[in-house]
Amino acid sequence: MIIDDRKYDVIVIGSGAGGGTLAGALSKKGQSVLLLERGTTMALEDQNVADVDLFRKDRYHPRNERWFGPDGDPFAPQTSYARGGNTKIWGAVLERMREKDFSETPLQDGLSPAWPLEYKDLEPYYTRAEQLYCVHGQAGVDPTEPTRSEGYQDAPKPIEPFLEPLRSALQQQGCQPYDIPISWSDDINDPSGDSELFGLQAGDDQRLTIRDNAEVLRLHVNPSGREVRGVEAAVNGDIWLFNGAVVVVAAGAINTPVILLRSSNAHHPKGISNGSDQLGRNLMNLQLTSILQLASERNSGRYGRSLGINDYYWGDKNVSFPLGHIQTAGGVLQDALFAESPPVLSLVTKLIPDFGLERLASRSVAWWAMTEVRPDPHNKVWLQNDQIRINYIHNNREAHDRLVYRWIDTLKAVEADPATKVVLKAPTHARGEAPLSVVGFACGTCRMGDDPSSSVVNRHGQCHEVDNLYIADASVFPSCPSVGPGLTVIALALRLADHLSSP
Ligand SMILES: Cc1cc2nc3c(=O)[nH]c(=O)nc-3n(C[C@H](O)[C@H](O)[C@H](O)COP(=O)(O)OP(=O)(O)OC[C@H]3O[C@@H](n4cnc5c(N)ncnc54)[C@H](O)[C@@H]3O)c2cc1C
Repeated sequence: MIIDDRKYDVIVIGSGAGGGTLAGALSKKGQSVLLLERGTTMALEDQNVADVDLFRKDRYHPRNERWFGPDGDPFAPQTSYARGGNTKIWGAVLERMREKDFSETPLQDGLSPAWPLEYKDLEPYYTRAEQLYCVHGQAGVDPTEPTRSEGYQDAPKPIEPFLEPLRSALQQQGCQPYDIPISWSDDINDPSGDSELFGLQAGDDQRLTIRDNAEVLRLHVNPSGREVRGVEAAVNGDIWLFNGAVVVVAAGAINTPVILLRSSNAHHPKGISNGSDQLGRNLMNLQLTSILQLASERNSGRYGRSLGINDYYWGDKNVSFPLGHIQTAGGVLQDALFAESPPVLSLVTKLIPDFGLERLASRSVAWWAMTEVRPDPHNKVWLQNDQIRINYIHNNREAHDRLVYRWIDTLKAVEADPATKVVLKAPTHARGEAPLSVVGFACGTCRMGDDPSSSVVNRHGQCHEVDNLYIADASVFPSCPSVGPGLTVIALALRLADHLSSP
C-alpha cells in the first residue's frame, strides 16, 4: 500500500452532480481538496450521443461490471463512471422540487415522507445552482412552479419548429406546457452542461487536485470509530491510502452505500454510519415510461428535451393524489435513456438496420411520464461476497399507470383535433417502462433525517456516527420527487460547501 504524504482539508469521492459541484465550490472557498474519481475524462464523441450508435454499443455500461437483481440474475447497469459521472449523459433538465415535495404527502400508495429541510431553506441554493449551471428557462408559465427569489438568467433555447404547433395543440386541450429548464454551455460540440464543466472546471485549480482512475474501496476509522482517518483507493493497479480532515462520499445512490457497507469494522459492524440499519435501504428509482406518438413530418431525431407538463403533478380531475410529470424526450437518437429502456425500441434496434432506426426516430415524437415512488426499507442495495445486489420493486404503481393513460388520452385528443397537423392519429401508442438497468435516477439509500435511529445523515449530510464524514449525492433524499433529482443534488452540494467553510 502507498500512503499519500499530503493531508487535504477535504477529500471528495466521486465527481458527479454532487461531488463535482462540491469539490469546485470548496476549492473556490480556499480549501485544499482531493477529488477521487474512479473514471476518467469522457471522450467527446461519447458525450456527443446523437447517433444510432447509441443503441448498439454498451457505451454507458461500465465494462466488466455486473450487479444482481432481485431474482439473483446479473444485469449491466446504465451508469457513467467518468469525470462528471452521470451528468455526462444526462438530459440536463434541471428542475426545482416543489414546496410540497418537501413535506409529508399522501400518495396513491402510502406516504411520501417529509424532509428535515423546507423549500425555503434550499431556495437560495437553487438560485445559485441554476446560475452556476447556466440553466436556461422561463419562470411563471408552469402553475406548479415554486416561489423563486430570482428568475432564470438565460431565456430558453428555441425548440424544434415542429414542437411549437404541438405546444399550441396541447394548450387547446387545457394543458400548460412550459419550456423545461436546461443547463446549456456555449460549446457547440457538447452544449449540455455537466458537473465537469460547471463544477470542477469552475473550481480553483491551485487548490483542487483531481485523481482519475481512483476507485475508492473503503474508509478506515480512528480507534474511537468517530472519525475517518484513511480513504483506501485502487489507483491504476496500486492500493493507496489518502488522508483528509473531512471526507465526503459522493459516489451516487448505489456506490455510496456500497463503500460504507464495505467499510464495516469493530465500531461499525453493519457498515459505517449504519446504527439505524437504514444504510443501503429505501432505494427509490423514479418510474419512467416512454410513450411514442407518430409525427406527420420528418424530424432530425437529434434534439434535446424541450417541453414539460405538470398539469397532473398533484392529481387530476378524478383523483387527488400526485400522478407526476410529463416531458418531451429528446430526439430518439439523442436520449441515452431510450437506448436502454423502451423494450419496443430495443427490439426494433436489434432487428432492423440503421435505416429503420433513423426512420423510426424521424417519424416519432417521444414523451416521458415520470412518477415518484415512496421509500421502502425492503428496496435496498446490499453486498453479498462483495457483489452489488439490488432488491427493488416499484411501488405507487397505480398513480404511474393513471399518468400514462391520462397522457395517452391527451395525445389522442390532440391527434383528433383537425387543426393539429404535426402528429398523426394512431390506434395505439407504443410505450415501454424503464427496466432495472436504468438506475440513473436512483436516490434515498442514505436518507437524511434529524433522528439517528431512522436515518444515516443529518440535514447537512453529516453522518450521524462519524463526525468528519459527509454524504453529498442523491442517496440522502428522504423522498423522490417526480421531477429529476439533479438540481436538488447540486443545491445540496452548494449548501454543504457553505456549511463546511463556515467558521
Ligand atoms: C441517461 C440519464 C439521463 C438523466 N437525465 C437527467 C435529467 O435530465 N435531469 C436530472 O435532474 N437528472 C437526470 N438524470 C439523473 C442524474 O444524472 C443524477 O440524479 C445525478 O447525476 C446524481 O448525482 P450524484 O452526484 O448522486 O451521482 P453521479 O452523478 O452518478 O456521480 C457519482 C460519481 O461517483 C463516481 N464513483 C462511483 N463509485 C466510485 C468509487 N468507488 N470511487 C470513486 N468514484 C466513484 C462515479 O464515477 C461518478 O462520477 C439522468 C441520469 C441518466 C443516467
